[in-house]
Amino acid sequence: MHKNRVNILGTEFDNFTEKQFHHYLDDDLDIKANKFIVTPNPEIVLSARKDNNFSQIINNADYVIPDGIGIIKGAKSLGTPIPERITGFDTLKYLIEAANRKQLKVYLLGAKPEVIQASAEKIKNDYPQIDLVGFHDGYFKDDSIIVQEISEKQPNVVLVALGSPKQEIFINKYRKSADAIWIGVGGSFDVFSGTKKRAPIIMQKLNLEWLYRLFKEPTRIGRMLAIPKYMNLINKEKKNK
Ligand code: UDP
Repeated sequence: MHKNRVNILGTEFDNFTEKQFHHYLDDDLDIKANKFIVTPNPEIVLSARKDNNFSQIINNADYVIPDGIGIIKGAKSLGTPIPERITGFDTLKYLIEAANRKQLKVYLLGAKPEVIQASAEKIKNDYPQIDLVGFHDGYFKDDSIIVQEISEKQPNVVLVALGSPKQEIFINKYRKSADAIWIGVGGSFDVFSGTKKRAPIIMQKLNLEWLYRLFKEPTRIGRMLAIPKYMNLINKEKKNK
């Protein structure tokens, strides 16, 4: 198996390329494996340090992929490099494309009602081979209705956008309800549906996606302060090595 992991401030990241990861996902889909993907960025690494329960959920996931240039930089700085950034958004796109290719069942959960509705429409229009077995927005009070629907429909892929740590806690609790690939995708439906734009390619290539998001959503400043704090901890850890 692929369990070659790199520990960055307590979170254990998979040490593989995106291409290798996609091969694993293809195999998982073919055998209908039950898998849980988490996509930590520096903010999540810091949250996990403060919350042992959340840290265990993350480290016990089947795939822990580096979503954020900060993770790649941190790994390099600690002398344990990992090959490349693999984002939650790109993984969501890959899973949707693979589900279309393999004619599989997909369930969407999370985001605002109009965003999830637009995401469902996009799937129906652009990925006609997918069997979209259900979708629900992320502002619900009672989990049981959703879990029952998932359990009845038995999707092969469940995309969950409730933000962190809510989405990881939800998946960890309910993943046994369907043998699917489960992934927490944060704000990805906002981008997938066209409601929000992703940074221009040039900014993505220059690793400035975070700056674009800050510019578009200045209220994220508090969350983004996690990055210097994280780099500081990386530097401390490096000195202690
Ligand atoms: N969200 C939700 N239910 C909640 C809280 C958040 O569905 O109770 C959704 C929200 O609409 C957004 C996503 O979760 O689509 C979180 O987005 P954010 O930008 O915080 O995630 P990130 O990509 O930064 O992890």
